[in-house]
Amino acid sequence: MSKEETIKKISAEVAACVKCELGKQRIHVVPGDGDLDAEIMFIGEAPGRQEDLRGLPFVGAAGKLLDKLLHKVGFSREKVYITNLVKCRPPENRDPTLEEITTCSGLYLNRQVQVIRPKLLVMLGRHSAAYILSKAGIEEESITRIHGKVYGIDSFGVPVVAIPVFHPAAALYNLKYKDLLEEDFKVLKSVLEKYDPDRC
Ligand code: SF4
Ligand code: URA
Repeated sequence: MSKEETIKKISAEVAACVKCELGKQRIHVVPGDGDLDAEIMFIGEAPGRQEDLRGLPFVGAAGKLLDKLLHKVGFSREKVYITNLVKCRPPENRDPTLEEITTCSGLYLNRQVQVIRPKLLVMLGRHSAAYILSKAGIEEESITRIHGKVYGIDSFGVPVVAIPVFHPAAALYNLKYKDLLEEDFKVLKSVLEKYDPDRC
C-alpha cells in the first residue's frame, strides 16, 4: 500500500471509531493533516472546538500561532504533518485521560508515525511530551525543564529525533512561553539542518 492509501485507511478507521468515550460527543474526527513526506511531524494533545467543527488540527487561535512560528523559521504548514494524541475532542476541552490516549494512539498515532517516518517529531505541550517520552522509558519532567531538548527515541517502533516544546495555546497567554517557544523553533530548524540518522 502507498503512503497515501495507508493514511487514507487510517483516517477512515478513525472516522468510524468509537473505541473510547471521546467518540460519543465529537462533531468531526480530526485524524491529522499535512505532507505525508514531511520531515517534521507535530503532535499536539487533542482537538479543540474549532478543530472539532472543521475536522482539521490546529485551526483555532493556537493554530494561528503555530503557523506564525513555522513561518518565522522558514517552514510552511503544507510541508509538515500535524496531528494529536487523540483524534476526537474531549468534552469542555478537558484533558484526555491516559486510557483514552493509550487507546487512541495505540490504534492510530503509532501507525501514522510509522507511515510518515518523520526525521523530527515535535511534542506540542506537556501532555504530548509526557506520554511520548514515557513510552520511551524517559521519566516525566516539567516542560519548563525539558523544552527544546533533543531526544533520540523509538516510542512508535521507528527511530526519531524528538523535541518537546511548549504548547502554542499556553504561549498565547504567557509571553515568556511565547519567547521560549520561538527559541525552540530555532532549535528545530538547526537540528533538522544538522540531521544525521546515524547519530541518533
Ligand atoms: Fe477512537 Fe481515538 Fe476518537 Fe477515542 S479519541 S473514539 S480512540 S478516534
Ligand atoms: N490544541 C491541540 O493540542 N490540538 C489541536 O489540534 C488544537 C489545539
